[in-house]
Amino acid sequence: MPEPAGSRDGSALVTGASRGIGAAIARGLAQDGWRVGVNYRADRDGAEAVVSGIEREGGRAIALAADVADPGAPDELFGALESQFDTPVLVLVNNAGISRDDLTPSLGDEAWDSVLQTNLTAAFRLTRRALRAMLRARSGRIVNISSAVALRANPGQANYSAAKAGLIALTKTSAVEVARRGVTVNAVAPGLIDTEFIGGASKEVLQAIPARRVGTPDEVAACVRFLTSKEASYVTGAVLTVDGGLAA
Ligand code: NDP
Repeated sequence: MPEPAGSRDGSALVTGASRGIGAAIARGLAQDGWRVGVNYRADRDGAEAVVSGIEREGGRAIALAADVADPGAPDELFGALESQFDTPVLVLVNNAGISRDDLTPSLGDEAWDSVLQTNLTAAFRLTRRALRAMLRARSGRIVNISSAVALRANPGQANYSAAKAGLIALTKTSAVEVARRGVTVNAVAPGLIDTEFIGGASKEVLQAIPARRVGTPDEVAACVRFLTSKEASYVTGAVLTVDGGLAA
């Protein structure tokens, strides 16, 4: 059962939490008692609305601007969160993500690099920074938001799916490296989730999903909340699909 707000010893950082899946995760973690860093790149109003919503429910949160692809972002974000709440960051959710779709023959270097930097390299750098305090505390939870397209081809997304598959490899490798120290690292692989990111789903796409519907951000957040709970202490290196059966 989730503990009441304010009962956790540490704080949680959710990247890309100004809307969509990240916002739902931030709200859910706050309900579980974590003090939450709501990271965003440009959508300050969105991030501040997420923070206000959490505070209205009695939780604690702070909006943190940073482009996660910036090499200085991890120190900036962790420094701000640690000093705001005076607690170690014991949960990291690498959620921020972008897509720049094109078929491989015409996929440009810039589209490749920007997607890899934001979706994969940033998660590595944030994980490295997060592990400092987590290993010291012998306690921590890292959840990487991958995608069903890491497991199943989707034409036009070579850059995005390579980054999301890379996240799964990063998850598994870092999980086994730190398993002895009370830190778990897992991935969640959503299918089609109803956010601005997908811009609506056609009838044909819905037909391909065994559940015949898109998922909700809260359905993804529920899995992240489980993976960050005490009850999930023996779950590590796992990939949990949340896709209505798409990748089955
Ligand atoms: P949205 O586009 O709705 O939201 C993306 C969030 O990421 C925004 O808060 C945005 O903030 C933030 N963001 C983007 N780039 C950066 C950056 N460089 N630095 C910091 N924040 C950034 O996406 P979703 O909520 O749909 O997706 C969230 C995650 O889930 C992504 O990793 C996505 O790949 C993954 N996913 C989504 C699926 C779906 O169907 N929706 C399916 C599978 C995976 P801002 O607006 O301020 O830039």
